[in-house]
Amino acid sequence: MATIEIDKVSKIYHGGVPAVSEVDIAIDDGEFIVLVGPSGCGKSTLLRMVAGLETISSGTVRIGGRVVNDVEPADRDIAMVFQNYALYPHMTVRENLAYGLKNRRTPKPEIETRVAEAARMLELGPYLDRKPRALSGGQRQRVAMGRAIVRQPSAFLFDEPLSNLDAKLRVSMRGEIKRLQRRVGTTSLYVTHDQLEAMTLADRLVVLNGGRIEQVGRPLDVYHAP
Ligand code: ADP
Ligand code: ADP
Repeated sequence: MATIEIDKVSKIYHGGVPAVSEVDIAIDDGEFIVLVGPSGCGKSTLLRMVAGLETISSGTVRIGGRVVNDVEPADRDIAMVFQNYALYPHMTVRENLAYGLKNRRTPKPEIETRVAEAARMLELGPYLDRKPRALSGGQRQRVAMGRAIVRQPSAFLFDEPLSNLDAKLRVSMRGEIKRLQRRVGTTSLYVTHDQLEAMTLADRLVVLNGGRIEQVGRPLDVYHAP
């Protein structure tokens, strides 16, 4: 488990106006923070900087006390779930789940244990030998989540993980993430533009606007503020 400390973080893309301006967020150990705000307000940029996938123009991000950009990508103790699943099409579900662990030279029996555990948690057991193209959207999204879970990271980052799903699947996956959150309790930063998702999942909400923090609070306080 870990804290995420985002300290006066800004991003200015080449030749552009600031996409993120002096954002401060301190995420407690085990806390689930949801980042909301209109399209283009900087949510994805901020998440990518936390993940170490985007250079930080100024400021610092620490995960478990370590500055993210000082740590090699493969050694970063975080896992990210994207909206487009990013599964390997030529690999089976089992291979997709195991891939990140194999890369990190996790012993084979340990990989098998973790894959089996994630498959049970996400009800993917019957699909382990299928390729992604033979899965529904919701099943693919569960595999994407499974790939993050098997890593047992200190922190999860979610970039609109449900936005490509239809309304019915979104509801069931929202419940799935909620259960996961209760069960695993991992420190999380979750980007969405869906108010219900934000209300359901967030311990605290951060509202971004024009790259700046506009509001921080518990979901009910933010959405029912006068
Ligand atoms: P950096 O300052 O991080 O090097 P760049 O300005 O060089 O970023 O752009 C990186 C990539 O993002 C380029 O491939 C560019 O085409 C793409 N890009 C540029 N503007 C936008 C935008 N408004 N939204 C999304 N992607 C963009
Ligand atoms: P959101 O995720 O809230 O929709 P983004 O972080 O994608 O917002 O974008 C924030 C701002 O930065 C926007 O004005 C967008 O056009 C710009 N932007 C995003 N990616 C790039 C890029 N690679 N290069 C240049 N500008 C970008």
